[in-house]
Amino acid sequence: SRRERVADPPQEARGPRGAAVTVTGLSKTFPSGEGGITAVREADLAIEPGGTVALTGPSGSGKSTLLHLIGAIDVPDAGTITVDGTEITAAGRGALSRYRRTVGFVFQRFHLLPALTARDNVIAPLLPYRRRAGALARATELLAAVGLAGREDALPSQLSGGQQQRVAIARALIGDPGLLLADEPTGNLDSATGTEIIELLLALNTDLGTTMVIATHDPSIAARCDRTVSLRDGRIT
Ligand code: ADP
Ligand code: MG
Repeated sequence: SRRERVADPPQEARGPRGAAVTVTGLSKTFPSGEGGITAVREADLAIEPGGTVALTGPSGSGKSTLLHLIGAIDVPDAGTITVDGTEITAAGRGALSRYRRTVGFVFQRFHLLPALTARDNVIAPLLPYRRRAGALARATELLAAVGLAGREDALPSQLSGGQQQRVAIARALIGDPGLLLADEPTGNLDSATGTEIIELLLALNTDLGTTMVIATHDPSIAARCDRTVSLRDGRIT
C-alpha cells in the first residue's frame, strides 16, 4: 500500500466496512429574512463504500449543512439520503439513533471535553449507551493508531492542536463507524500539522475501510481524496 498502516480493524470486522451513501434531491432552507437561505439545493451525490470525498467550496456554500444532513444531526426539507440500503430520511427515531451511532464526526475546533483525559474523551461517545467490553482497550489501540501511544492520560490542555485533533479522530472511530464526516478538520492547524492530519485520515481509510467525507478549503487536501465535490451557493457544481 502507498499508505503506512496505522490501525487494525476491530476484531469483529469482516470484509469491506465502509458505508455506501446515496443522496438525491437534497434541499435545506434556513429561516432568514424573506424566503430564507437555501444552504443545500437539490444535491445529488453517490459515495462508494470506502471512498474518500472532498467537499470544497467557499465559506457559506453549504458544506457544513450537507455534512450535518448526511450525519442525520439536521433534517432536510426535501430529498432522500440512503446509507447501506436504509433510507435514513424515512427512518423512525430508533433507527435514526442507531444510524447516528454508525457515523463519526470530526470538527474544526476538536470539541474535546477539557476535564477528561485523552482516553476518556475517546470512550465518551459510548457512555450514553453501554460500556462495551473492551472499549478501554480499543481506545488505547485507537490512540496508538493516531500516534498518541503513551499519552492516554494527558488532558487536552497538555496536548498540541494537532494532538487534540488526533484524539478527536480516535473518538470519532470508537463506535467503529462505517462513515466519518470531517468538517474542515485542518482549519485550526498550521499547514504542516494539517497535512499530517490528512495523511492520518487517509491511512485510517486504507486500514479500516471507513467511508470519509472531508469538507475543506484546501485544494491540496482535496487532491488527495478519491473525488472532489464542489459546492457553490448550496448547489453541487
Ligand atoms: P459552509 O460550511 O460551506 O461555510 P454552511 O453550510 O455553514 O456553509 O452555510 C450555508 C449557508 O447556510 C450560509 O449562508 C449560512 O449562513 C446558512 N446557515 C447555515 N446554518 C444556518 C442556521 N442554523 N441558521 C441559519 N442559516 C444557516
Ligand atoms: Mg462550514
